[in-house]
Amino acid sequence: MFFGPNAISKVGEVLRSLSIRSPILLISGPSVTKAVAEDLVSSLESEYKILHVATTGGLEDLMDAIKAARKSEVDLLIGVGGGKPLDITKILAAELGVRYLVVPTSASHDGIASPSVSFTLSREIEERMGRAIRVEAPTAILADTTIINRASPVTFKSGFGDLVAKITAVRDWELAYKLRDEPYSEYAASMSLLSAKIAMDHAHEIRARLEESTRILVKALIGSGVAMSIAGSSRPASGSEHMFSHALDILSSEAGVKPAPHGIQVAIGT
Ligand SMILES: [Zn+2]
Repeated sequence: MFFGPNAISKVGEVLRSLSIRSPILLISGPSVTKAVAEDLVSSLESEYKILHVATTGGLEDLMDAIKAARKSEVDLLIGVGGGKPLDITKILAAELGVRYLVVPTSASHDGIASPSVSFTLSREIEERMGRAIRVEAPTAILADTTIINRASPVTFKSGFGDLVAKITAVRDWELAYKLRDEPYSEYAASMSLLSAKIAMDHAHEIRARLEESTRILVKALIGSGVAMSIAGSSRPASGSEHMFSHALDILSSEAGVKPAPHGIQVAIGT
């Protein structure tokens, strides 16, 4: 993991250490994150063949990207974005059987380092493909705090909300362990709760566009993602409070309106 101002400049070093061959497929969103991805293309294209897909995160875009990546025999994926482009990258990596890096452009949720994708997208994929896709955690994370600090203030609130949720998530997990004998990891549960505690202990310092806030939030969000990797499930990070968010996503979709950011919805559930 590379973390701090200008962490994105370490991407060449990461690629060399992983002995990556061309081509590399870069996945970004269609607007702000596209510009970050384009800078990345410029910095790498003298050494690597780079393909760049700017996606809105829809299922059709994903299917097109799978086809394009298979045809080009892509060796590595790089996801650049807040939420949807990272989810698309994870699914593509699982489908192609290749590694992936993430360059988060906001601190809005704990999917940055987690082996999971959004509930809505995984549901759509299961319906479309007739099977679930099991995604892996990223090989490397380049968390550039200069880029993350440019994101809107609501992304910081959302990241904070997704962290506070770990308190109810872990309680639900404990219940599932006691009542239904589900596998439980004390280590993963403690790590997840620590992420929530760190965010809450620093609640008054967490303000958008402060270097210190970004550090606290991103590290805690990554910690939560690692807790999920240790547990081998989303249990340490997602409980009944996440069901509130999933329900609001479904209601928003039926009403044809944009849902509130994930972490805000989750905070209401918490
Ligand atoms: Zn979440």
